[in-house]
Amino acid sequence: MNKDIATPVRTKEILKKYGFSFKKSLGQNFLIDTNILNRIVDFAGLSAESGAIEIGPGIGALTEQLAKNSKKVTAFEIDQRLLPILADTLSPYNNVNIIHEDILKADVKQVIGEEFQGIEDLMVVANLPYYVTTPIILKLLSENLPIRGIVCMLQKEVAERISAQPGTKEYGSLSIAIQYYTTAETVMVVPKTVFMPQPNVDSAVIRLIRRETPPVEVKDEEFLFQITRASFAQRRKTILNNLTSQLQDGKSKKEQILQALELAGVDPGRRGETLSIEEFGRLSDALLPHFK
Ligand code: SAM
Repeated sequence: MNKDIATPVRTKEILKKYGFSFKKSLGQNFLIDTNILNRIVDFAGLSAESGAIEIGPGIGALTEQLAKNSKKVTAFEIDQRLLPILADTLSPYNNVNIIHEDILKADVKQVIGEEFQGIEDLMVVANLPYYVTTPIILKLLSENLPIRGIVCMLQKEVAERISAQPGTKEYGSLSIAIQYYTTAETVMVVPKTVFMPQPNVDSAVIRLIRRETPPVEVKDEEFLFQITRASFAQRRKTILNNLTSQLQDGKSKKEQILQALELAGVDPGRRGETLSIEEFGRLSDALLPHFK
């Protein structure tokens, strides 16, 4: 049996054999540390009956560990040059399927229906391309896919924003957008040395587990996210000032905004970063009749 793909020696061998050169624009930083990969797989809590969806398999470092620890792996890879390499490196595994597609354009729900029939536990596990981490995560969560959750590597700074709690400087509209769908934790900070080539930023792994029901029931989800984005537009401003300056006709509707804040039990002098998701939910429902 071959050595694991994710060692510096084997990775260099594979790159050399195929004359592969990294494309920075595609966020290609491959993992070369099997211990880190095993920890990522552990965080996903897979069983021999689970399915795994991977985004960006690269030369197969994580794919290989997922193949060993689950029933089936389906991976989306945008870079055509990697397809023959993956066919070679993953040839020992008969439970892997690579789809040559941009994850942002893919019909993931349909792919799940085709690829994972009879599989009940499904996780997304990935070392994400850093130029598109947020759009990928938001796409997977907002499409209401039948997945238990997502475990992925991304920029440490984004991981901290995603898992931030109210009252911290990292807490913002991204924390709320993601925590509306999931419980979010940063589970591991990762040194640059485990990648080839090393990225310019620090990295971390997050675990997002889908909630059965959202933490707050709102009349209009899109409006909730619009209100949170508006509330954080200028972090130093009060929620009242942000809402009046960001919402359409906000200035002329100041009285209605004040009424809505009162109805939601939110002091107009507070800053967005102090509000919980539940408070944003109440506020969004109270503002809705005035703005939609
Ligand atoms: N999983 C491999 C590893 O850990 O060594 C590679 C991870 S690398 C950070 C990101 C991978 O995502 C690259 O293989 C890149 O080509 C691929 N990728 C970039 N943008 C993508 C997209 N929009 N859809 C699918 N794959 C993409």
